Amino acid sequence: MPLRLYNTLSGKIEDFHSIDGNRVRMYACGPTVYDYGHIGNYRTFIAVDLLYRFLRQSGYDVRYVMNITDVDDKIIRNSARDGVTVQQYTAKFQQAFLEDSAALNIQPPVLVRATEHIKQMADFIAELVKKGFAYRTEDGSYYFRIARFPKYGKLSKKDFAGMTDGARVDVDEYDKDNARDFALWKAPKPGEASWDTSIGPGRPGWHIECSVMSMEQLGPSFDLHAGGEDLIFPHHENEIAQSEALSGKQFARYWFHARFLLVEGQKMSKSLGNFFTIRDLVLKGHKPSSIRWLLTQVPYRNQLNFTFDGLKSAASSVEKLRNFKFRLTSTQFPAGANPAMAQLATETTTRMKSALDDDLNTAEAQAAVFDMVRKANAAFDASEVRKEDVPCLLSALDKFDEIFDVLKDDDQPKMKAVLAWARAEGREEDISPELQELAGSAQLSDEQVNQKLAEMQAARNARKFTESDTLRAELIAAGIIVENTKDGVRWRRK
Ligand code: AMP
Ligand code: ZN
Repeated sequence: MPLRLYNTLSGKIEDFHSIDGNRVRMYACGPTVYDYGHIGNYRTFIAVDLLYRFLRQSGYDVRYVMNITDVDDKIIRNSARDGVTVQQYTAKFQQAFLEDSAALNIQPPVLVRATEHIKQMADFIAELVKKGFAYRTEDGSYYFRIARFPKYGKLSKKDFAGMTDGARVDVDEYDKDNARDFALWKAPKPGEASWDTSIGPGRPGWHIECSVMSMEQLGPSFDLHAGGEDLIFPHHENEIAQSEALSGKQFARYWFHARFLLVEGQKMSKSLGNFFTIRDLVLKGHKPSSIRWLLTQVPYRNQLNFTFDGLKSAASSVEKLRNFKFRLTSTQFPAGANPAMAQLATETTTRMKSALDDDLNTAEAQAAVFDMVRKANAAFDASEVRKEDVPCLLSALDKFDEIFDVLKDDDQPKMKAVLAWARAEGREEDISPELQELAGSAQLSDEQVNQKLAEMQAARNARKFTESDTLRAELIAAGIIVENTKDGVRWRRK
């Protein structure tokens, strides 16, 4: 079965076919780096990350480009307020975006920056003027004339018949129900950053950057364009208008939009106190893997309601999967094979693939792997698992983790990095005891833990119980949980 995706442009679920054989070219609108990214932003970035990973798992060769909006109204305003250049202002937030994405195991796209494409934007605008799609106003700004582009509204399904030709808007965010000629280029204002270009001094509007950079990187027509649902109008509608007016060709074929995330049932906002960055959550002691898991649990087109209870149960789901893998890899199984296990693994892989083929039904893919874990655990307990079953079960688990990427136990170093950042930023009072403890457990490497465990066993075998208890206490203090199972002693990090 081919991948089926909802396409905002057609308003339907469609079979996905790429333009060029097994090559897929895709573009996602990236962060505006005027602040730290919040969990809503990362819901969208992770949804696109899953799509990117699944396309590759399905055999496509994918070129995935994302922009960094490092100039816009807010950035210009904030950098002017702080008396620094735009580059100086955004550097810290760009870095934070890279670090937070890495902490969430988001695979890096090809990143392109708006400020590095100012000349190309000016050239693009000049070309639109030449073709009659754009005009210059007295102050030296440029606008797109939407009356010249009759298909305006085709993505957002808005009917703009009867709109006033020439009515203009120069802010990047505008009234969602009214079409206006939108700014391609803004004339300089005193005290604000501007660039000297062939079309005069000024700075680009927000929409033009994505048209310019996506077409430069991927060509005038490419397969897929992604972003959060708030971007459908005006941003993506405007991107289509600019790009198709210039090239005369269809811009992106499939439009992929992630639904907005709510927090405890409400829209996220600073005034409601429910606005969280990734770092805020880590400071409270939550692991990046739990955050990633929670953000993948609900299929991208369904409303995701972020709750702290949900985050706790995400942590225990990840724990269950890691324990299962640990059990598979650390147990000595009797020789032979139990055909039921190989069959279970194959069925699970098939079920995961059809779930993801079905417009990325992540919830169903996760249910499939948990069914496998439950059944295999029952077989373990009944001593029905054999040595040759292990690679089959592991391979199903690895296929799953190629997409969801939560099995590797690397939360501690990431949390430690957030701890160091919080200290450097003077945010000591935000550091929870949970984070202190979890990050502290990274002080022992795997080798050191194994070494201590071996010493502990040796002490116990020699009946030196005080010594073995001391070693055990040291491990507990370092956040290591030691368990005695029928297969021997095993450990994991808290
Ligand atoms: P921005 O940094 O505001 O330009 O947004 C970056 C990406 O995050 C865009 O694709 C937005 O659509 C998306 N986004 C912003 N807020 C949310 C939210 N609450 N839920 C899901 N996606 C969001
Ligand atoms: Zn964009």
